[in-house]
Amino acid sequence: MVSWFVIGARERALRRLAVSMVTLAMGLGGAQALMAMTAVKAPPTPAKQPVKHIPIPATAQAFCQDMTQRLPNLPLPVCAKAQLTPLAAKSALGRPLFQRDVISPNAHLRVLVIGGIHGDELSSTSLVLHWIGAAVETPSNIHWRFVPLMNPDGMMLDKPTRTNSHGVDLNRNFPTPNWDREAPIYWNQRTQKDPRRYPGPKPLSEPEAKWLHDEMESWKPNLIVSVHAPYGVLDFDGPTVPPQRLGRLYLDQVGIFPGSLGNYGGVHKKVPVVTIELPSALRTPQEAEIRQMWLDLLRWTADRLGAG
Ligand SMILES: [Zn+2]
Repeated sequence: MVSWFVIGARERALRRLAVSMVTLAMGLGGAQALMAMTAVKAPPTPAKQPVKHIPIPATAQAFCQDMTQRLPNLPLPVCAKAQLTPLAAKSALGRPLFQRDVISPNAHLRVLVIGGIHGDELSSTSLVLHWIGAAVETPSNIHWRFVPLMNPDGMMLDKPTRTNSHGVDLNRNFPTPNWDREAPIYWNQRTQKDPRRYPGPKPLSEPEAKWLHDEMESWKPNLIVSVHAPYGVLDFDGPTVPPQRLGRLYLDQVGIFPGSLGNYGGVHKKVPVVTIELPSALRTPQEAEIRQMWLDLLRWTADRLGAG
């Protein structure tokens, strides 16, 4: 899929080419001019570019095989043991999102754990898949819902992208108050129209963000944990005391952005959002570190949300 900004640049280049060819043709005579003019017909319509065929893994088994090849430190058994199931929700290109619920017998809190909202942060998906195994083995009073890869169209490319297949940064596409004004201004002025941070044409324009929004409405998680990379910090938005550290990651609240999940969930909807920024997008933390982060998350959840 060619994203909109690439189309824009391509269109402009073609127009420049057409103008220079016409100028050249006007300087030539008769048949030569006609030939040159014929060669610069209107540029092809850019809207319907053929989409490169990318296999769409529709089963958990195919998903795991694909993920094992792509992701750092993800042995096939770790993914297989996660026992993912496809959701009805699909990405913009029609890939299913996969989920796993781990429900403790006395669960009274609901925690949603999301990885891969940015497709080029491979380690985030790997971490969430490892944590599914940890949740199965660790008693808690939590109903866990894990979605290890929210942006499959961005990740399942030869060169993964932060954005989804429409060129939208899903983590800027949530309906924070005044999105219509603030998100485009932020993108234009603060990011200088960085294509990696394009918030989309309107809030929830993207099916992946829409799914998460609807999930918050219907399932009503008490906590959302969203895993990213590569800034190596912990961020937090919401109404309770934030965790000071998870493993080697320390709290560093970096601010809020129009359309981000932390802003929408934590500030606007008052659902605590823990944002984990792993130190590398390409290297998954070591097993001991994965485990320590998990235990620290459990401890904080018990202390602050009463999930002990
Ligand atoms: Zn990210």
